[in-house]
Amino acid sequence: MSMKKELTCIVCPMGCRLTVELDGGEIRSVTGNTCPRGKQYAIDECTHPMRTVTSTARASDGAPVAVKTDRAIPKELMIACMEEINRATVTLPAQIGDIVIENLLGTGVNVIVTANRK
Ligand code: SF4
Repeated sequence: MSMKKELTCIVCPMGCRLTVELDGGEIRSVTGNTCPRGKQYAIDECTHPMRTVTSTARASDGAPVAVKTDRAIPKELMIACMEEINRATVTLPAQIGDIVIENLLGTGVNVIVTANRK
């Protein structure tokens, strides 16, 4: 059975509206993309959606520190990722790029600091 899925490309700020035509789970076509990255995004989003997670972790003084994953992780791991970040403590002083969680959930992705803190 064929169906259409509407997506907004989040690869660049243009935010093109994409239409993916699926047939029994198989991708038949991608339209609406201005560049090839949009087509790849649509394919990835329909087969194995990935997201970069941005959040805050607690520092050793109790105040929040901005963190993010250094690469995208599978979308289905986002809640588990947030739980790991909630459990983590950032040692102060912290600098941009410091690793807070190494190899998050076995993905090979690290959670890193995104703002300096004394
Ligand atoms: S399709 Fe290309 S131009 Fe359009 S939002 Fe995606 S990356 Fe940007």
